[in-house]
Amino acid sequence: MKVKVDPNKCIGCGYCVGACEQVFDFNDDNISQVILSPVPKDLEEEVTEIIENCPTNAIEEEK
Ligand code: SF4
Repeated sequence: MKVKVDPNKCIGCGYCVGACEQVFDFNDDNISQVILSPVPKDLEEEVTEIIENCPTNAIEEEK
């Protein structure tokens, strides 16, 4: 799976970065960005849960 963060929706809460730092990190504006995409198979379940739990639905799976 490939994922991206919509910087206009992210509020920088830190949930995704704290939950999976291999895939998400803050940029200079303290907004989350994806640092590893495609997501490795063994992290897909975790990232799917993070997508569902982002408070502003800022993380999208890219088709
Ligand atoms: S969980 Fe959502 S709102 Fe929070 S930092 Fe990650 S992308 Fe941004």
